[in-house]
Amino acid sequence: MNYPNLFSPLDLGFTTLSNRILMGSMHTGLEEEGGALKRMAAYFAERARGGVGLMVTGGIAPNRQGWLMPFGAKMTNRSEVRKHLLVTEAVHAEGGKICMQVLHGGRYSGHPFLVAPSPLKAPISPFKPWEMSSRLIRATIRDYARSAALSREAGYDGVEIMGSEGYLINQFIAPRTNQRTDEWGGDFERRIRFPLEIVRAVRAAAGPDFILIFRLSMLDLVEGGSTWEEVVQLAKALEEAGVTLINTGIGWHEARIPTIATLVPRGAYAWVTERLKGTLRIPLIATNRINTPEKAEEILSLGMADMVSMARPFLADPYFPKKAKEGQSDLINTCIGCNQACLDQIFDRKVASCLVNPRACHETVLTPAGKGGQKGQKIAVVGAGPAGLSAATEFAERGHEVHLFEAGSSIGGQFNLAKRIPGKEEFQETLRYYAALIDRTGVQLHLNTRVDSERLMLEGFDRVVLATGVVPRKPNFPGIDHSMVVSYLDLLQGTVMPGKRVALIGAGGIAFDVATLLTTEGSLADPVSHYLSEWGVDTSYTHRGGVLPMPVRPSERQVWILQRSKGKVGARLGKTTGWAHRLALKNRGVQFWGGVTYHLIDDRGLYVEVNGKEQLLEVDQVVLCAGQESLRDLYAPLQQAGMNVVLIGGALEAAELDAQRAIKEGILVGME
Ligand code: FAD
Ligand code: NAP
Ligand code: SF4
Repeated sequence: MNYPNLFSPLDLGFTTLSNRILMGSMHTGLEEEGGALKRMAAYFAERARGGVGLMVTGGIAPNRQGWLMPFGAKMTNRSEVRKHLLVTEAVHAEGGKICMQVLHGGRYSGHPFLVAPSPLKAPISPFKPWEMSSRLIRATIRDYARSAALSREAGYDGVEIMGSEGYLINQFIAPRTNQRTDEWGGDFERRIRFPLEIVRAVRAAAGPDFILIFRLSMLDLVEGGSTWEEVVQLAKALEEAGVTLINTGIGWHEARIPTIATLVPRGAYAWVTERLKGTLRIPLIATNRINTPEKAEEILSLGMADMVSMARPFLADPYFPKKAKEGQSDLINTCIGCNQACLDQIFDRKVASCLVNPRACHETVLTPAGKGGQKGQKIAVVGAGPAGLSAATEFAERGHEVHLFEAGSSIGGQFNLAKRIPGKEEFQETLRYYAALIDRTGVQLHLNTRVDSERLMLEGFDRVVLATGVVPRKPNFPGIDHSMVVSYLDLLQGTVMPGKRVALIGAGGIAFDVATLLTTEGSLADPVSHYLSEWGVDTSYTHRGGVLPMPVRPSERQVWILQRSKGKVGARLGKTTGWAHRLALKNRGVQFWGGVTYHLIDDRGLYVEVNGKEQLLEVDQVVLCAGQESLRDLYAPLQQAGMNVVLIGGALEAAELDAQRAIKEGILVGME
């Protein structure tokens, strides 16, 4: 497929973008690198080489108060200009264009000296902000303008003013957070004065031929957010004030609606941008869960937007545009929306990366296959789960003869189970990518082949990589062999039918996935409508912020998720997605019980003790989701035979296993 709309140039008057792809802003942690921004330069240069039309950096504060974290990135002086020159020069050398995002956190700033239009604490922040004085507001506007002028000196092609996601500018616009009665609050005209004065000041300071993107919150998804009429009025005023492009912002960080997690269907919010189409002369950019060239092309060809913004997809694959343009879309490593290695790591104050591409943000550390190194070894990789797939293709890229053995009839290991969970269909994309890569790199794939140690010893391999994964753990208590007890594997592979009243033993990611499968009801033929109505998104925009109360939809099936440990059930789920999984299941009537002791299973159900109280859970099915144990029976015989053998992924260590670790270990072993 070719993508005529995606790859048509966009004339901005004073400059032209080579295509309609914006690499959206994403904080990666590279912004805070000490000294010169070498890693950030390498990161953006690679994406420019990959063919992105226009890129935006992570948020850079215009002053200290706007810091997202203590000592976060800011653009306030010439020494910062020098640091950033390295980034812009690297991007320009690859023929790319890059804007710097100016972001003031307002009441989301991660330090105690935070400021906001009104002293109202955000539900997601530990700190109450100080109310900004009129003088401080004017100084802050000047800081935005100075930041923009300095960014121009640093070689940036433009700036993006962050006016959405609930940050400072958004806090001025919405009555939820702006309770002022002076010239900066009260009626709508006064609430939007702050963003408009910023835009005018930035335009005046940076010049007429500087790209000025405004990220406009078109759907706040919080009570007390903007109305649609206000969004339109502000958009028109922004155009008038000198904005070049309007980027769509969806949902504040404190919203109770997940807007970018994998459970959000692709392109679920393009309708919001489309609503504004035809109102302005300047181009509009659609965002949120656009992760394939097909979806991007569809949005453009339907006239829903003039450009598409993708952020995480460029962590997953820096060469996304190039591959799409050259007819190699099947080789795009697709972002699966998991947030595990990007946002979750950022929340843990680590440098971001990507579950499917551990090289993201580590370009200078995890280098791709080059010319040097030992080649031509004969290597066996056993197991085609995520770990085996990444190892096999990494070895093959480096010129080795690789044989990949898989006992099952297809590649993917446990990803074949994950992709069956409603809302995790994206996991199939990783398997599509590896299938194409196996083809391209010449890995010799042996499906339906459960190898044993004898065969591995006989076939003359220089090296054996065991990526044989895990087997489910079976707890040991009376009745565990009762016919109503099944493993998550049986249920997900469809070898047993789900019961009506089901207890899940274990409360990790797999239990939450199984509960999601068991309680998903209604037609999924139109996933976007299903998602929008399940989460209470007001698509007719009759309520401020476009949000309705979340409809309660108890499932017909009764499900309990149980764990032995005390504390919050599901506490170890991903930081940026776990809350959404818990909320969705709670809404479907799933019960979470912690502090459980399992006593017995018989025909009547599961006997447990919870907080010292004996109880009988009258269930007709018990599903074991009690974690896993490594499968590595091949290791000892091969090692004893003196073979060069190594374990990776679940075979190496089942505890704390996830696909991020599995894929990274595959790459590392291939790089050795
Ligand atoms: P596996 O995926 O288990 O692959 C091992 C492979 O080895 C299998 O295909 C097996 O058939 C093969 N094999 C074993 N022995 C032999 C042999 N002797 N010869 C040939 N082949 C053999 N992780 C996340 O990070 N995020 C998620 O959201 C997520 N969701 C999940 C949802 C579900 C429902 C499940 C079940 C898992 C999920 N996981 C998730 C976990 C993730 O899939 C695993 O961490 C990952 O698959 C482990 O990779 P692996 O390659 O080590 O092992
Ligand atoms: P897990 O997260 O380790 O959870 C195992 C659960 O089983 C725990 O809740 C544990 O709770 C319980 N358990 C452990 N030993 C037990 C025993 N002997 N008897 C009874 N209960 C026992 O493992 P998982 O759910 O199998 O997931 C495997 C990996 O896949 C995870 O590490 C996760 O990273 C990944 N995954 C991630 C996602 C995601 O959305 N990010 C989704 C699915 C899977 P108690 O010990 O308190 O009882
Ligand atoms: Fe996408 Fe997951 Fe990679 Fe983040 S970690 S970029 S969500 S695939």
